[in-house]
Amino acid sequence: MNDSYLNFVNSPLGARVARSLRLPKPEVLRRYRADAPEFDGIVAVGAGPSPQLLDALAGVIARIGMTSVAHAGASAWVPLANRHGLMTGRFEPADPTAGSQARVRALVFDASGIADSAQLDTLYAFFHDALRSLDKCGRIVVLGRPPDACASPRQWTAQRALEGVTRSLGKEARRGITSNLVYVADGAKSSAESSNDSGIQSGIESTLRFFLSPRSAYVSGQVVRIGTAPSALGDDFDWSRPLAGQRAVVTGAARGIGAAIAHVLAAQGAHVTGIDVPAATDALDATMRQISGTALPFDIAAPETPARIAAALDELGVDVFVHNAGITKDKTIAKMSEPAWRNVIDINLSAQERIDDALLEAGTLRDGGRIVCVSSIGGIAGNVGQTNYAASKAGVIGRVQSMAPHLAKRRITINAVAPGFIETQMTAKMPLAIREAGRRMNSMSQGGQPVDVAQTIAWLAHPGSAGITGQIVRVCGQSLIGA
Ligand code: NAD
Repeated sequence: MNDSYLNFVNSPLGARVARSLRLPKPEVLRRYRADAPEFDGIVAVGAGPSPQLLDALAGVIARIGMTSVAHAGASAWVPLANRHGLMTGRFEPADPTAGSQARVRALVFDASGIADSAQLDTLYAFFHDALRSLDKCGRIVVLGRPPDACASPRQWTAQRALEGVTRSLGKEARRGITSNLVYVADGAKSSAESSNDSGIQSGIESTLRFFLSPRSAYVSGQVVRIGTAPSALGDDFDWSRPLAGQRAVVTGAARGIGAAIAHVLAAQGAHVTGIDVPAATDALDATMRQISGTALPFDIAAPETPARIAAALDELGVDVFVHNAGITKDKTIAKMSEPAWRNVIDINLSAQERIDDALLEAGTLRDGGRIVCVSSIGGIAGNVGQTNYAASKAGVIGRVQSMAPHLAKRRITINAVAPGFIETQMTAKMPLAIREAGRRMNSMSQGGQPVDVAQTIAWLAHPGSAGITGQIVRVCGQSLIGA
């Protein structure tokens, strides 16, 4: 869908008008393109006392081919960077009086060793010096330890404080910059300590790559936890086609977000089976043809569908199942009909439960597989006229949180993305005022694209994301709604 305000203020005339009227100027976000380098430029590295993740970080930055500069507070960086053959220099704060300043693409701060609130000063020192040097559409990543696993109340307190800093940085930085916090469990990098590269990959590499990449253009203000579940990726692992040889299923794949998910998973090497209602067969066939996928024209809510999906996939099995299909039937609860209530809960929530039960029971979803569900910020914040929709999407969150521990025994992860305002046919149907509010009330001052949701799902589906389960990641440009 078209955001004409964004297009206007990024034209030469529109930019002048926006400047003189002091109108917000949403940045044209830098998104992943297959014909442009995914990673380039400089990462500025900062650290608190006793940082524990710099070695793993240096390995990742070296492998993705970025260079680095170290802030004065990160003295441990230079020898580690040298060990990984990573080019590095000293970070020099930008001179506000100089016209053109050396820009960095990303700011990464290792806060894992912070054990007391007084040590949060180190974050101030780094971001006070460095934020101005960050390029538009730049990346901020803060690395910490999960507060509830901390040894002392003081450490827990200080680690919890990182959320406030990271989220505020996202709101302050603007200019298409994202800011995210990654809590890394002690042990998620344990094999990295033995300097085994595949160990590093099994811990934090897929997540660092995602948050440093243009693929995460519309993900900001998020807190992600990486647990200790290992996923050994061989040294010859192809990061450009992480899903090579895998089979993925996407529901609601005929159009919108589902079609984008199908395209991204296929581009990453998966064979995709798309499911959509029989009425959408033409569109589904067209999408599947573009990616050499397989079309299954099934209504996910029909009672026989779970068994039909299992039968259709049984022989080859599934590695990644994406529950994307969803509908809205909006009315305030006093005016809502009972079928409208039931239908939305059934398609958006109960159908997912029935399908997963069937696939898990039949063993169709392979051990070590991935389930990714599409929730919504409506399920987090609630919305006028959406009691049914918000119930279904909050239920999806409950499903993810409750199933994660059960599925861990089979090394299957289950996570959800919660999109904010995404430009699709669903949001194009909204009344203008609500649509404009949804678009602008976030740190990016614009709606997201279906591909932003799709890329986030691909990161959760990645073989290297075995340590991420039971989590909800918003793809909302740091929306103020439900924040
Ligand atoms: P869309 O309406 O463009 O596409 C939804 C697809 O699901 C359609 O192809 C539709 O035919 C299919 N579908 C609906 N019922 C089905 C059924 N019973 N069986 C099989 N397929 C069925 O919507 P979208 O905007 O692409 O949304 C995709 C998902 O993202 C939905 O779950 C939606 O709730 C969620 N979401 C969207 C937004 C947004 O801003 N667009 C925001 C938050 C969450």
